[in-house]
Amino acid sequence: MTPLTTALLCLLVFGANHFVWTASAILYHRGITHGALRLGPRMRWWLRQVGFWTTATDLTGWVVMHRRHHHYADVEGDPHSPHVHGVFGITWHTILSFRRTVIALRRGEADYVRFARDLPPPHALSRDVLFLAPFALHAGIALCIGVFASWWVALAWFLPYEPLVRAWLVNGLGHYAGGVRFETTDGSRNSHLAAWLVHGEGYQNNHHHDPATASYAVGPGEVDPGYWVCLLLDKIGLIEIKRHFIETRGAA
Ligand SMILES: [Zn+2]
Repeated sequence: MTPLTTALLCLLVFGANHFVWTASAILYHRGITHGALRLGPRMRWWLRQVGFWTTATDLTGWVVMHRRHHHYADVEGDPHSPHVHGVFGITWHTILSFRRTVIALRRGEADYVRFARDLPPPHALSRDVLFLAPFALHAGIALCIGVFASWWVALAWFLPYEPLVRAWLVNGLGHYAGGVRFETTDGSRNSHLAAWLVHGEGYQNNHHHDPATASYAVGPGEVDPGYWVCLLLDKIGLIEIKRHFIETRGAA
């Protein structure tokens, strides 16, 4: 392969995988968790079955964990808060919290089940070591690409499925460093860095002020590529945006 072919393939593979991951993550968060997007039964089925592999997390477990994050934001009970777990403990506690959430749902623990009343049971593979299956699949495909084609293309394949840095950026930085536009009861912040690197999700202060919207950007200079994905999916009829923009009354 020539260097130009490799570079083009890297761009193509990274772009395609990043779009699939982004769309799945946005539908988990803005669609199912907060109800800002309307998804028909087919999209919900697709998201539950395919989202498990594209996001490497179970839909129900993720949504319940995130609803608990909003309910207990930055106090004891928050699955991942820099004010509870320390800014560098976020990633590890997110992994532990996700496992704890799925186990608690299977046991029927009331403080978890109450956040899952509109959700299906956790995915059948979301248990024991089987929850690592999506990572093994993506790593296996990357290995094959690396051995038979190019290690650069293999890296371009695998990078979009790397969740740990993104979790730290949104849940760590987004509640630790950045501006505050709205007065909330939690420690949420608007981190431009986290927003640019994780499709607009870094505007945590905007989002915690008014969670059920498709767009998280409010002020000038705030860019939310996740909202553009919502607009595209709405335009081609896969979803319907129920509410677009954050209520800005009370903004600083
Ligand atoms: Zn949220």
